[in-house]
Amino acid sequence: MDLSLELDKISGIGPKTYEKLEKAGLRTLGDIIYYLPRAYENYRATTTIDQIRPGKIMIKGKPDSLKSTHARRRHLTITEGVIRDNTGAIRVVWFNQPYRVRQLDPKKEYYFTGNYDFKYGKYQLTSPVVTEAAEVSENQSSFQPIYPAKNSLKPLFFKKIMGKLRPNFASIPDLLPEGYAPDFAGSGARADALYDIHFPESSDDVKKGKKYLAYEELFEFLLAAKLNQQENQKLNAISLPFNAENTKNLVKNLPFKLTDAQRIATWDILRDLEKPTPMNRLLQGDVGSGKTVVAALAAHQAAKSGHQTAILAPTAILASQHASGLSALLEPFGLKIALLTGATKQKASLKKQIKNGEIDIIIGTHALLTDDTVFHSLALCIIDEQHRFGVAQRQKLLAKTAISNPGLAPHLLSMTATPIPRSLQLTVFGDLDISILDSLPNGHQPIETKIMPEIEMQENLYPALRQHLKAGEQVYFICKLIDDGGGQFANSDLSSCGGGTAEPIGAAPATAGGRNHCSTIGDLRTGNTQSDVMKLSKKIKKLFPEYNVATLHGKMKPSEKDAVMEKFLKNESQILVSTTVVEVGVNVPNATQIIIMDAEGYGLAQLHQLRGRVGRGTKASNCYLITSGEDKPSRRLRELEKSTDGFYLSEVDLKLRGPGEIYGSLQHGELNLQIATLSDTKLIALARKHATEFAKHPEDMVKYKELNNNIKKYQQLTTLN
Ligand code: ADP
Ligand code: MG
Repeated sequence: MDLSLELDKISGIGPKTYEKLEKAGLRTLGDIIYYLPRAYENYRATTTIDQIRPGKIMIKGKPDSLKSTHARRRHLTITEGVIRDNTGAIRVVWFNQPYRVRQLDPKKEYYFTGNYDFKYGKYQLTSPVVTEAAEVSENQSSFQPIYPAKNSLKPLFFKKIMGKLRPNFASIPDLLPEGYAPDFAGSGARADALYDIHFPESSDDVKKGKKYLAYEELFEFLLAAKLNQQENQKLNAISLPFNAENTKNLVKNLPFKLTDAQRIATWDILRDLEKPTPMNRLLQGDVGSGKTVVAALAAHQAAKSGHQTAILAPTAILASQHASGLSALLEPFGLKIALLTGATKQKASLKKQIKNGEIDIIIGTHALLTDDTVFHSLALCIIDEQHRFGVAQRQKLLAKTAISNPGLAPHLLSMTATPIPRSLQLTVFGDLDISILDSLPNGHQPIETKIMPEIEMQENLYPALRQHLKAGEQVYFICKLIDDGGGQFANSDLSSCGGGTAEPIGAAPATAGGRNHCSTIGDLRTGNTQSDVMKLSKKIKKLFPEYNVATLHGKMKPSEKDAVMEKFLKNESQILVSTTVVEVGVNVPNATQIIIMDAEGYGLAQLHQLRGRVGRGTKASNCYLITSGEDKPSRRLRELEKSTDGFYLSEVDLKLRGPGEIYGSLQHGELNLQIATLSDTKLIALARKHATEFAKHPEDMVKYKELNNNIKKYQQLTTLN
């Protein structure tokens, strides 16, 4: 059976269902068969109410006396009631899920899964997931998959589809080339694995199935990396000769001494640029580690040999900061630098200059990518915060070299401030060369981090802030929402939690795999008016009338954002109340205080990034992580309090979130590894060995159509052409 078969060709799937699936991006049999459960419920694990203990529980019972009330202060809807079975009754509560009243029929039996614990003075079951008992039919296994919802498609919908497809599973062909399967599997292993995952009898079945699919995925991934590496070696790039005198001269005139890490990274890059094959290097360094000057030295080498560099940045603010930083460093050496963003005036004449080769280094946002930006000779591409860009954008930039210099590929330097756990580096970026800036430049001050419940701010925070403001320092307040009445997030970030909206019936419990580490808080947060940037801004203005308070959020026009940032940079405003748009790379050395509201609502990596807005000057800095104070602070926040080491924190994040999630946020979420096993070193070693072996005969690829297609997908991530 061919997995590329369109789903409408399969009996049991009618046109209506097909339409829904197609809308959700699931078109082929393969798409749906690889749509994997996100968790499993073991209905045998049900307890009766007289037996329950605090913790995660599953009970089977009938809802009673459900009613919703609106708590005005927090814009919160509370739905509460009781659940009964024939041994007793317990209290149940949902936040912001008023539809539960309509949805749950007191005459019907349901499974309720959730946390049962002591809160606000009583024991209660909080925001349980619900499955109608009648849907768990008697003759099915009592070990049931729970599918993630997708668009309007509910978990149960997927369960029904899988049921219909069940007879097809036996004829799923193997994907791996013969002789490259793991030693623990024989032929027909893929069909078995997929069956075990969708229709397991026990958690052992699931484990077995996942192990095989994980191997398969790793094999594809590592093979793609190997093939890319080989293919990139066959490409030609412009050789940019190293000139010791020029470089020394520039380094000598820098306003600071390079750190050892900077010197090593720069040296590796400058040598790569000399080669006639393209560089494909990732420069990793924590916020403030000084990546910009490394990029400047590389661009300088390109310019001195008469070729151009394009620097792509994710926001206008960041692009203009790079432009002014690089101008200061490089214009004294005769280099011409220009900025191209959406707001740039006289684009046409600037583009003419770029085309004529009058500009050496062009820094820009997406505006740089349009077809009418043509270079004279583009030799080097630098992408800052590379994970913010999609595959298509990346390719658009890289393709510009072949337009100015037919037949050639650019040297590529990708930069990221999101440290990748060392243990993942080889797997995730197996085909890239990596440079790491693992020490901060001297003179940078430590940041002291403190978790603080909101109610303590008045007494313990504002007086301290006043002192710092008096001393001429500046302050950031970060919160997530903008005042649009709907409690919508100002900007979604890959590393943060979801929006905490109502969960569809039957969705996975919040504890599954630690993914939704903040779903309950999310419920509360959506209604928290304190974290609304406009309201917070008003409040801060009242509290600090003697200072200028500026407000920044993602719904402002780029030019407005720039203007606000510019004022803050010049210390014309002393307090900046902002959403996470300030997150990326913004550099205001005089800002020493950052207060992050509702800190539990962010991921570890993002909090670390946000914190990096301070500690960039010569004064000691503080970061306050504000919580509701209702629960014990999460491990994430406690780790942040302890450490400012990005690499250490990335390892923690890896443990807490799992490698799949980390990988996803590193890669713009476009290609998430589905089965998180990047930490399984044995499996990786085996897959690597096999992939390396197979890559020696790339001509064999044509024999394996499905494998070939899958690999193309991964190859796009790091290919240079
Ligand atoms: P990031 O890696 O976050 O992009 P930047 O390149 O913006 O970091 O550098 C952060 C700050 O540190 C800048 O103000 C920069 O001028 C300064 N800096 C960079 N390298 C050094 C150094 N070796 N010594 C002192 N200051 C440095
Ligand atoms: Mg930077």
